[in-house]
Amino acid sequence: FSISMDQFELEDELGKGNYGTVRRVIHKPTKVNMAMKEIRLELEDQKLNAILMELDILHRAVAPEIVEFYGAFFVEGCVYYCMEYMDAGSLDKLQGVGVSEEILARISGAMVRGLKFLKDHLQIMHRDVKPTNVLVNRQGIIKLCDFGVSGQLEKSLAKTNIGCQSYMAPERIQGESINNVGTYSVSSDVWSLGLSIIEVAMGHYPYPPETYANVFAQLTAIVQGDPPTLPDGFSDEACDFVARCLMKEPTRRATYSELLEHSFLVKDEERGKDGVDMVSWVAGAIEWKEKERLKASATADLGL
Ligand code: ATP
Ligand code: MG
Repeated sequence: FSISMDQFELEDELGKGNYGTVRRVIHKPTKVNMAMKEIRLELEDQKLNAILMELDILHRAVAPEIVEFYGAFFVEGCVYYCMEYMDAGSLDKLQGVGVSEEILARISGAMVRGLKFLKDHLQIMHRDVKPTNVLVNRQGIIKLCDFGVSGQLEKSLAKTNIGCQSYMAPERIQGESINNVGTYSVSSDVWSLGLSIIEVAMGHYPYPPETYANVFAQLTAIVQGDPPTLPDGFSDEACDFVARCLMKEPTRRATYSELLEHSFLVKDEERGKDGVDMVSWVAGAIEWKEKERLKASATADLGL
């Protein structure tokens, strides 16, 4: 079936990215809550049709670790893309309260299985693995979104600002500076996976804050510096797991199958479905963020 704008009731804004806004919407015919992402493009209709055709393969991206795709359409040069609404938002919004090793392993396992599914069943790489593209719901389920299915769409994105926090692997940064294309393979996603896992554990982007405002310093740190490591308190196993993702030489990085066989994830598997209380962690993280937000606004009100 096909969807169109008049079937939706627009609700609250869920977030803004580099290319547009994501809102919660209600699909009136089915009463289903969805997340609708608006992507602004400047293109003739022909190209838009090519994009919609490419996005169609998303209907085949059905797996427990992948956000469900409901359909896409365009209105006045914008592509609207409707997907499953994840009511706890993205991982970056939940980090800060802290994670135990068990929680971190569960998140990592879901990410690895999701990425492996994309590779094995759709023959695609993600290309944009980072905490804002890992979504969570209040049942504690972790799913990936925003993977690069449409080459045409990617080419048409008017990148307004290069993000201040790069998850790109060193070889991709170097490739881009040389030929603007980048030598890019699945192992580059493995780097971004490792960096995202460390970010969730630390509660903030792993490279030093001095590099947030200076893209050049940040890319230099990624290419020339040592890879980041997990903070204190995590097991040697956990540290080894991320180290295998963050090898600077891409061919030395672990494959998804190797990561799934790693004791860090094998132990997670052994804990079983109900062995880790993800629901309480999500609830606690949301509550903590809300308190932080109230504290910050109280401070602002006092004019401090
Ligand atoms: P970038 O533009 O660099 O990819 P981003 O991933 O943050 O950054 P968007 O993909 O536009 O940008 O998403 C904006 C925000 O909307 C996300 O950070 C996320 O918190 C929220 N979001 C996106 N999709 C959903 C969804 N399906 N359910 C709930 N929240 C979502
Ligand atoms: Mg995103």
